[in-house]
Amino acid sequence: MPATDNHIHVDPINGEGPLPVAQKFHRSGGTAMIIPNKPTWTVGEGCDFERAMELVVGYVDRINSETEVQAFAVVGSHPAELSRLLREGTTLGDGEQLMREALETAQKLVLEGQAVAMGEVGRPHYEVSPEEMEVHNRLLLYAMELAREADCPVQLHTESAGPDEFLEFAQLADQAGLKREKVIKHFSGPLVLPEENHGLTPSLISSGDVIRAGLKKGTNFLMETDYLDDLSRPGAVLGPKTVPRRTRKLLNAGLISEDDAYRIHVENVERLYAIELDF
Ligand SMILES: [Zn+2]
Repeated sequence: MPATDNHIHVDPINGEGPLPVAQKFHRSGGTAMIIPNKPTWTVGEGCDFERAMELVVGYVDRINSETEVQAFAVVGSHPAELSRLLREGTTLGDGEQLMREALETAQKLVLEGQAVAMGEVGRPHYEVSPEEMEVHNRLLLYAMELAREADCPVQLHTESAGPDEFLEFAQLADQAGLKREKVIKHFSGPLVLPEENHGLTPSLISSGDVIRAGLKKGTNFLMETDYLDDLSRPGAVLGPKTVPRRTRKLLNAGLISEDDAYRIHVENVERLYAIELDF
């Protein structure tokens, strides 16, 4: 049975790195990993946006050539990057410009076929000033416009979101001309009904209760761990084996059919990212 983790990080600097993580994933039954780049400050002193994105493209290449797992890169500038620039003394205007350029770099990598989506982009999950929030919202709209041009999805990192926030993001997507389903809400709760997600695609955090609640409403979602691959933060999120193991458990318990699992792990993934998965 195929299993796709829609949001899993690999980090050879602070964690085990691409090959050990992919091998663990594979041994537990995983077949495809969608891997967003980590923030610049986790990948070395003075690392710039482009370098952080090139690193993840390189990790994905290694996984594809040296393991049985199919890997795909997602590239972008995390909203926390702007807050960090401001803390370091960059002006709001300069910070916005740097973030815009980073998003343009991400789009370029997608257009070159080196990445399949833009992300993580969005809004901070912590309190910021109204002026800073305004910039985050402008950057989010810009990311969606670039994604529409490149015809690719965006993976959203935001504050914890319910139906009201999903509607707000859906309206931004409309404004950008990006198909709503191409907006993938990373770290989502079980907002699987159309009236809850307003047409966006939720990527469900793969704890047992969230996935069971999601399955009661349908199969129009993705599964993820948000594994950080950071040895200083063990247990901060679900481990790299979670998505395949959770899926197998649900199959064994009769809580998901093989057809439903195929839809979540293959059909939804292939349609959204315009990729082909093979086993
Ligand atoms: Zn993440």
